[in-house]
Amino acid sequence: MITSFHPPQRTLMGPGPSDVHPRVLAAMARPTIGHLDPAFITMMDEIKQLLQYALRTENPLTMPVSAPGSAGMEACFVNLVEPGDKVIVCQNGVFGGRMKENVERFGGEALMVQDAWGTPVSVDKVRELMQQHDDIKALAFVHAETSTGVCSDAEALCQLAQDYGCLSIVDAVTSLGGVELEVDKWGIDAIYSGTQKCLSAPPGISPVSFSERALEKVSKRDSRIPSWFLDKKLVMGYWGGGQKRAYHHTAPVNALYGLHESLVMLQEEGIENAWSRHAAHHEALKAGLETLGLRFTVAPEARLPQLNSVQVPEGVDEAIVRAQLLQNYGLEIGAGLGDLAGKVWRIGLMGSSCTRRHVMLCIDALENTLRDMGVEVPTGAAVAAGAIYKAQEA
Ligand SMILES: *Cc1c(COP(=O)(O)O)cnc(C)c1O
Repeated sequence: MITSFHPPQRTLMGPGPSDVHPRVLAAMARPTIGHLDPAFITMMDEIKQLLQYALRTENPLTMPVSAPGSAGMEACFVNLVEPGDKVIVCQNGVFGGRMKENVERFGGEALMVQDAWGTPVSVDKVRELMQQHDDIKALAFVHAETSTGVCSDAEALCQLAQDYGCLSIVDAVTSLGGVELEVDKWGIDAIYSGTQKCLSAPPGISPVSFSERALEKVSKRDSRIPSWFLDKKLVMGYWGGGQKRAYHHTAPVNALYGLHESLVMLQEEGIENAWSRHAAHHEALKAGLETLGLRFTVAPEARLPQLNSVQVPEGVDEAIVRAQLLQNYGLEIGAGLGDLAGKVWRIGLMGSSCTRRHVMLCIDALENTLRDMGVEVPTGAAVAAGAIYKAQEA
């Protein structure tokens, strides 16, 4: 007889999902109602407003796709890339590679701008490529590369897209809620995010927003959008304004209660306060990790506060350390991906996982685990982190 599943208690400090706040879990346990119930439709409208707040946009087409971040990515490309379209795709980690896949699968031509893993997208290289071609339809890049912990200059890249008359498509899965992100001010045309990183809602939903210019491209397409589920014109029959909603698909009702609650919490905190909270705890974590002798992969000016990529010390089997952290502390941190597999740990400070308690647990657990494994680690890491907090409070 298989019995009910009871997951172990964990502390999630990897690349996502992050810890889900009890308020969000409680919201998800509320009664399921019909996805066309007037009460549900009122809540859907609130989610749209709250997402506009979080994304800093007035775009009417701002809504959650009923599927994970990867589907939000696909929603952007399938609607905005037509066969033959030239799209500049910037790759400096795992997720830029997926953008290339998307462009090509929908018949577009991906012109790649490659930068080393651990460095930001080069604005100069993008500008050069724009100058060489006068028929670029879109520029696609990842704002916060979760695979490396790098933040690219989204404002400058979107400005280039505007200057050269093409659309910008931005992956903000890890950036939303963790670092400054301004959809309208920066002129972002299409953006997708995820719920399980700095919003700290469970995985499985992807906020998406399209500008006027992006919608114009959709309406002027010659070819039919090759996805039924992700066709924005069809989805908006359900997510669009007014009480008259057409059935498109059954929304994930309880998952949306969770997203609603997490966005209410973000609004209560204030989005700018959320950004500064991520910056503040990153400083403390950094002080602790550096005291332990761990070196950051990314240069200080391009570091994401919410995703800290540090080098595994010489001679240490990184997988054993992660297994020990999980077993002895219930603490999950992330492994390296792709080029960085086996070489780095990725320590997330995302959303509800970005607190003093998380920082102190992580430093303490890493110090003890490394020492248990025979690595010579200096003491005082927790004191170093604590000193940052004292300085911040002063
Ligand atoms: C996590 C992530 C994704 C994919 O999101 P899923 O919800 O796992 O599909 C895409 N891009 C970036 C930058 C991510 O960090």
